Amino acid sequence: MTGDLDSQRALVALGCRIAAARGLVDGMLGHLSLRVDDDRLLVRCRSDSDTGVAFTAPSDIRLVRFDGSAGAAGELDGYRVPNELPIHVETMLADAQHLAVAHLHPPAVVAADLAGVTIRPIYGAYDIAGAWLARDGVPVYQRAVLIRTRGLAKEMVAAMGDRPVVILRGHGITSAAATLQQAVLQAISVDGLARMALRVLSAGGTLHDIDDADWEDLPDLGPAFTTDAAWRHEVARLRAD
Ligand SMILES: [Zn+2]
Repeated sequence: MTGDLDSQRALVALGCRIAAARGLVDGMLGHLSLRVDDDRLLVRCRSDSDTGVAFTAPSDIRLVRFDGSAGAAGELDGYRVPNELPIHVETMLADAQHLAVAHLHPPAVVAADLAGVTIRPIYGAYDIAGAWLARDGVPVYQRAVLIRTRGLAKEMVAAMGDRPVVILRGHGITSAAATLQQAVLQAISVDGLARMALRVLSAGGTLHDIDDADWEDLPDLGPAFTTDAAWRHEVARLRAD
């Protein structure tokens, strides 16, 4: 596993920069993680020279134990784990499929929730993966607290249930998946749904779920497109910025 660590570290850092470039996190707050084994994860940490999530470097991604300590093979070296590390640990412990966790503060999602807008499948082929994600529901954890204890993180996980994304009221989102790419892409989809909902409302429209009859013609386009090509695009647009 150690041989993979540097590439995993680079991937988590890339995910942080992509999330920031997509407007899913502003400034210093927000972090991504990747589970490494039974008791350790790579997580975006902070140093005294940190310049924000948009500028995350692979060296900002540190290997720590689930209790936040550096441990025998850990490596904090002056970096500090996020206050909200329990978000990552409890989300991973809740489901063995949750190998990657993105905790972000997307303003559009927070605004939509505060406006009383529930994330619903208001569009279809515009973003098929997003539509299905919305169809099955994006729950809300109703507390606006800093999730810095395991107890609060367990509350959030309970609100999340068996869904891959949970909205944290007045705070942000947590997105979990088997891969780092998927966790970030899910977050981008939820942000897209929120932005579109706000746009429809600000144009004077009302929000409606798409017709039930449309679902059978909204096929899963497969991971080669939905994940791989989508991720290549995210990487390319980041580089073009
Ligand atoms: Zn947060």
